[in-house]
Amino acid sequence: MPVQAPAHTPATRARVESLRSRPEARVLIIGGGINGVGTFRDLALQGIDVALVEREDYCSGASGASSHMIHGGIRYLENGEFRLVKESVIERNNLLKIAPHYVKPLQTTIPIFSTFSGILNAPLRFLTHRSGKPEERGAALIKMGLSIYDSFSRLGGTVPKHEFLGAEASRELFPKMRDDVRYTATYFDASVHNPERLTLDVLHDGLKAAADKPGTARASNYVTAVGMGPDGVRLRDEITGEEFTFRADVVINLTGAWTDQTNEALSSPTRYMGGTKGSHIVLDHPELLEATQGREIFFEHTDGRIVLIYPMGDRVLVGTTDLDDDMTSRAVCTDEEIDYFFELIKHVYPSIAVTRDQIVYTFSGVRPLPSHDDTAPGFVSRDYRFEKREQNGSTVISVVGGKWTTFRALSEHLANDTLEILGAKRTVSTLGMYIGGGEGFPETEAGVRAWIAARADETIPAERWAVLLERYGVRADIVAEHLRSGADALIGGSHELSTRELDFLIRHEQAEHLDDILIRRTSLAFRGLATGEFFAALADAFAEAKGWSREERAAEMERARAVFAERHRVDLATGLLV
Ligand SMILES: Cc1cc2nc3c(=O)[nH]c(=O)nc-3n(C[C@H](O)[C@H](O)[C@H](O)COP(=O)(O)OP(=O)(O)OC[C@H]3O[C@@H](n4cnc5c(N)ncnc54)[C@H](O)[C@@H]3O)c2cc1C
Repeated sequence: MPVQAPAHTPATRARVESLRSRPEARVLIIGGGINGVGTFRDLALQGIDVALVEREDYCSGASGASSHMIHGGIRYLENGEFRLVKESVIERNNLLKIAPHYVKPLQTTIPIFSTFSGILNAPLRFLTHRSGKPEERGAALIKMGLSIYDSFSRLGGTVPKHEFLGAEASRELFPKMRDDVRYTATYFDASVHNPERLTLDVLHDGLKAAADKPGTARASNYVTAVGMGPDGVRLRDEITGEEFTFRADVVINLTGAWTDQTNEALSSPTRYMGGTKGSHIVLDHPELLEATQGREIFFEHTDGRIVLIYPMGDRVLVGTTDLDDDMTSRAVCTDEEIDYFFELIKHVYPSIAVTRDQIVYTFSGVRPLPSHDDTAPGFVSRDYRFEKREQNGSTVISVVGGKWTTFRALSEHLANDTLEILGAKRTVSTLGMYIGGGEGFPETEAGVRAWIAARADETIPAERWAVLLERYGVRADIVAEHLRSGADALIGGSHELSTRELDFLIRHEQAEHLDDILIRRTSLAFRGLATGEFFAALADAFAEAKGWSREERAAEMERARAVFAERHRVDLATGLLV
């Protein structure tokens, strides 16, 4: 993929310079996925001098490729992972409270086509964790799992209990569902609507925590850890190509599925990881959207994998696969995976036709799982652990595993271990602490309308406030202040984005590339709205805000086209699948 380096803007220079001008900290975190950023926030809140580097953009690895579920992981009960399920449920209940702008309750329905199958296999799997195709999970097994799940769900939350419906009531509720459905089981989990923005909010909170001690919490995207020697970790600025050495007492390798590769680059090879790839497609399909009745449809496909059909706004998310991955090439959704998704839709909704031109976006990532010999990918532990070693005068901690759901707990445990190494004490807990624009976020639809009505005027009308509130939570007020402080214009005539907002994202959110804007600062790519004339108008506005020449603008557009085509299989000119 051609990646040319456009000129550094002052905002870019400032953050790389913040690392270069004082190339040391007590802790260096490598990796800006949710676990890296969560740990950064936790340590910054304890007053620790901490730096973070991410070689691409924040949330561009597995954290930007998840199924968007914040869930206890009911299916991990089958693996006997009770500790993880309990922790996940506590974290889910906590995230619903502390990040209400992005984490919402999710009604989940399991369609069930048999009564007893699977029940004998389940205890066997508790003991062996071996591969093999499970029998279809029957109603009795699902009922048992949901009852255990309910008992965990009371921990720090008020999520309603599960409910079973018989065949007739199920068919009435889901008229397009396969007509041999015998039961449906419905329970509550949570979904994260905008994982990329939640990651940025967590990062922002970390940076803000150190506001009274400038320079003690620093983070930069597009900086890679490329080596380690007696003087520290060698870092490379991916925009200028310049390298420098950074020294830290504790180095935390939080590079997810790339953990072994990073350790190899740091001259200390490991064999901890055995990541599995998973892909998703996003469909613009009103009939399928309606057939879900606003619920996540979560079920077992013919191969025993648990898969999902999931309404997200006016789109439908379908996933996912679980395939061993050797990390030699970038994960991308393949034609076989698309066929698999179409089959799974047919498995539950046989009368609904789906075609490739209804796909508006695809994404794929690799789960940071431990190496797992002959255990089937779906049954590999989703729990996490920390591996420590001494190297070149630093303690290096490698993190193996870690789901989105448990990021706060993982960050807390990891920060505790780090504090102990540093001889420092925890001063504040992140449990129950609001994240970014979540504090004061209106709790009801009526509350949202009132919040918007109280602010809308000629300069920022209600449609624009609705976009800002959904995108930033109550931090929308801060963004709006920026919009009002200069001449502003909508980009491509759409309420989705304006020139001043772009300026805000460049100055305050480290947006470097067009794909940062389309994929991770907004949800335009996910919703299939990044293409055609809008893309050209955005490129013009972005180039102007960055002060780029025509050549730099052209190179940047080419980069975005390549990212969308090669990683997401979307042609930015037509919006169609490539
Ligand atoms: C298909 C799929 C579905 C999933 N669904 C769910 C779900 O519904 N719910 C849930 O809770 N979890 C889910 N997960 C798991 C979850 O997304 C991940 O476990 C979690 O996001 C991992 O975060 P991380 O920060 O550890 O790793 P990552 O997000 O992968 O971050 C690692 C970062 O390190 C960076 N990096 C790599 N090498 C270097 C280097 N040398 N220098 C600097 N930076 C480097 C990478 O660019 C990357 O951004 C899913 C995962 C996948 C793949």
